[in-house]
Amino acid sequence: MIEQLKQPLLSVVIPCYNEEEVIGETMKRLKAFCSEIVNLDVELIFVDDGSRDKTRELLKNYAAEDARIKLIGFARNFGHQIAVTAGIDAACGDAVVLIDADLQDPPEVIHEMIVKWREGYDVVYGTRTERQGESIFKIATARSFYRLLNRLSDVPIPLDTGDFRLMSRPVVDTLRAMPERDRFVRGLVSWVGFKQIALPYKRSVRFAGESKYPLRKMLSFAIDGILSFSTKPLQMSITLGMLCACLAMSGILYVLWLRLFTHIWVEGWTALMIAVLFLGGIQLISVGILGEYIGRIYNEIKNRPLYVVQEYLGFNQTGPEMSRSPVINKS
Ligand code: UDP
Ligand code: MG
Repeated sequence: MIEQLKQPLLSVVIPCYNEEEVIGETMKRLKAFCSEIVNLDVELIFVDDGSRDKTRELLKNYAAEDARIKLIGFARNFGHQIAVTAGIDAACGDAVVLIDADLQDPPEVIHEMIVKWREGYDVVYGTRTERQGESIFKIATARSFYRLLNRLSDVPIPLDTGDFRLMSRPVVDTLRAMPERDRFVRGLVSWVGFKQIALPYKRSVRFAGESKYPLRKMLSFAIDGILSFSTKPLQMSITLGMLCACLAMSGILYVLWLRLFTHIWVEGWTALMIAVLFLGGIQLISVGILGEYIGRIYNEIKNRPLYVVQEYLGFNQTGPEMSRSPVINKS
């Protein structure tokens, strides 16, 4: 009997958090994208990151209707980067695409990513040439963040690049073998290496609903990125300390000079207070930076599972090939 040749598989991972307003349209666009695709099978892996609205229900219905649609339902909100990680862990594809649920990253761009992948690239990452509908504040802070991160990080991380990207199986397998908890996915992918290429695209406006990244989350995401890709902030405390020591030394020399060669003696109080406060500030900042790193070590050491899956839907009997979750409820 001639065995039917299996087509390569493309996995599309879509993290969703309270996206009930968008999910219908996203599904429509993704299905349209799937129907245009040739010589590839597609699986759509939705990761519901503990939504509190109807997202999970809607996704369950979609998964029941279509065998290509799979669902990973988290037990609570674990965050975007962890949701993406769970999707990557469960994906079986020869290539895996990460895309946001809010249609800011147009699914149609994936066609161009596939072309590049077929040319032999292992990572095709979308670089935003334009960001429609986002506040000047968000655009400006994002721009400065990527530039700062690049200066600090030992691995070059592409500028103005989010998680919208295609990755080949070797890259995905390497990511799956990385146990670290601080998952700044775009940085991890840069770290892996292989043949990578940028694909410029226009980032659209969010289709509906609000951004799930308020300032607080954005800030902690930025700090995660910097701290997990650089130890330069630690070296900064040494530089600051040395700077302070130099300043103090010149102060001492100046005061000695006044004492020995003039009649103006420094009264002292103001200078003393300034010195104490200045040094205290620098010391606290340094301890704080140290604390951030130690906190992360503590988190790693606890070795808790990265995420907890409440339910898997649409995977086969034995569930996905890989999961970092302890409780797996297969169906
Ligand atoms: N998201 C998630 N968990 C979260 C926050 C966001 O899975 O805790 C998803 C969200 O549903 C969306 C993607 O991550 O698909 C990007 O989020 P969003 O569009 O709100 O961020 P922005 O584009 O405004 O930076
Ligand atoms: Mg968005």
